[in-house]
Amino acid sequence: MTTLSIKHKQSIRKGMKRFYVNNPEARDRVRKQMTGTPAKGCCFDNHKDDNNPVWMGDKVSYSALHSWLRRKLGNPKICEHCNKIGMKVGRRWNLEWANKYHVYKRNLTDWMGLCDACHKKYDRKFFN
Ligand SMILES: [Zn+2]
Repeated sequence: MTTLSIKHKQSIRKGMKRFYVNNPEARDRVRKQMTGTPAKGCCFDNHKDDNNPVWMGDKVSYSALHSWLRRKLGNPKICEHCNKIGMKVGRRWNLEWANKYHVYKRNLTDWMGLCDACHKKYDRKFFN
């Protein structure tokens, strides 16, 4: 564990995202220096899919890819599994882009809109 404040961690994460998204090696090195923790399980991709081997090796980070998708496709309009209509719930959209093949590439046709529940179900089915 580190003694960095949450705010500090956030600023590190923000900065690293910008500079090292396309340079995982440098990213890991700098992350190690700044946080004192190894790449795996560190604050940078503090996400439930952090250890997902499918995309860990990709140069495009999960979050960068998702913001790219949102720019290109906007928000999903409908959940393709349960037909839930996309809408804003609180501060976030209730549907997510899920990758049909769990290969996180910049291929717009590989993505479908899923609600939280269907996305979780879909991912679980695929990885187990
Ligand atoms: Zn659904």
